[in-house]
Formats: sequence, C-alpha cells, structure tokens
Amino acid sequence: MSKNVKPVSPVKPKSVELVFVYQCPFCRRELTMIAPTVAAIVQCDVCGKQFPVVPVEERSVAYVKIMLGNGAAAVDSDYM
Ligand SMILES: [Zn+2]
Repeated sequence: MSKNVKPVSPVKPKSVELVFVYQCPFCRRELTMIAPTVAAIVQCDVCGKQFPVVPVEERSVAYVKIMLGNGAAAVDSDYM
C-alpha cells in the first residue's frame, strides 16, 4: 500500500429511498421495490409468476424524504 494513501472518513448518506415490501400471491415470497409510484406488473424471482402491484403516492414518499432530511437526519448521532 502506498504511503500517500490517506484514511477515508466514513461516508454519510447522499439521499434516502423508501423500500416497499410486496408479498407474492402465489408463493408468499416477499419482494422489495423502491417506492413504485406507478402501477406495474412484477415478476416473482422465486416462482416466476407475474402479478400487479398497487403503487404508492409520490407525495407520501416525498414527505418521508423531507422528514429525514434526505437521509442526513437519520445519521447515527455518533457520526454527526
Ligand atoms: Zn412467487
């Protein structure tokens, strides 16, 4: 390792995303999706069957992102 390499400080989150969990109606597998704001057909990665998912409100996702300061407000206080 080079002597010129400086230690890297822990990196804070740049942004935040909301993950929603949908259960496959065929095999009960829980699938995660990042804030699906439009209706969509998804394919289960276990059984391979497709099913429609209910979208989430974009304004609700925006609200949570604002409340978390886009991630900054959720940072562990030991790292502030
Ligand atoms: Zn499935």
